[in-house]
Amino acid sequence: MSLIIDCHGHYTTAPEAHNQWREAQVAAHKAGQPAPLYPDIPDAAIVETIEQNQLRLLKERGADLTIFSPRASAMAHHVGDEAVSVSWAFHCNNLIARVVDLYPETFVGVCMLPQSPRATLTASITELRRCVEELGFIGCNLNPDPSGGHFDHPPLTDTSWYPLYEEMCRLDVPAMIHVSGSCNHGLHATGAYYIAADTIAFMQLIEGDLFKDFPSLRFIIPHGGGAVPYHWGRYRGLADMLKKPDLANHLMNNVFFDTCVYHQPGINLLAEVIDTKNILFGSEMVGAVRGIDRQTGHYFDDTKRYIDNLEISVEARQAIFEHNARRVFPRLDRHLARQGR
Ligand SMILES: [Zn+2]
Repeated sequence: MSLIIDCHGHYTTAPEAHNQWREAQVAAHKAGQPAPLYPDIPDAAIVETIEQNQLRLLKERGADLTIFSPRASAMAHHVGDEAVSVSWAFHCNNLIARVVDLYPETFVGVCMLPQSPRATLTASITELRRCVEELGFIGCNLNPDPSGGHFDHPPLTDTSWYPLYEEMCRLDVPAMIHVSGSCNHGLHATGAYYIAADTIAFMQLIEGDLFKDFPSLRFIIPHGGGAVPYHWGRYRGLADMLKKPDLANHLMNNVFFDTCVYHQPGINLLAEVIDTKNILFGSEMVGAVRGIDRQTGHYFDDTKRYIDNLEISVEARQAIFEHNARRVFPRLDRHLARQGR
């Protein structure tokens, strides 16, 4: 029997004490004071928030497992300084580890990194190593724009990112390219900033030759790859104009898109344009769009339904639901094998 693995879930319903500590941490930083001690959060608070939300919906919708990371919009790398990010990432990742420990059959961890606009990646590398080697996480979320909406960071192909990529390759973990909250009032976080950043990241990769230097590096571009699949001809044509290899060889051995596209025609297009091997099932629930589609009567983010409706082979569907995730996240594959799955 095959598994249904949701590659994109965040702890958007974390216990209130966790969120309150973050507010206190940021306020203390602004006041030039040390942050208060992180609160003692009982297991019961985690159980309540998970069972009423992610676990309930997972069961209702028929998925088996979620690759779970801290709330992306709350990473807020542009807030405070590097020390603030280090402490926030540490506590957010530990909370994910506790969810995984409570529900080892249902959740596996992906970490956020303590990025900060003016910091090097040293702290991010240290935290990635801790999360993978000590907490058993299988990947990370990498923010291509820690400025929070100004896009003034070097592109993902810049060598300043290379120390992190070296560590990702050594640990054999992929990154989901994922921005956080927007501090730019012209950029709505989940409607504009996320989708723009996905598209921008892909174009940065086209312009560079990153995977020549890192043939085993793997990125998941979420939200269906932003605008990329819809504009696939534009990007193929630009690669050609820039004298780059065909996208199949230039990027698509290393870049994957999830299925966080919240309507059937969008998923149909994704499946038609992008090779099956590059598509991973994801829903990002409970996340960006939480309502029910009045046209269908179903939740917008119930993306399994759209995959079920695709006119594709059984093998292709299994690849999207399970096998691609196990290939892109080798540590997930080994973790599941140890569980006999
Ligand atoms: Zn997300």
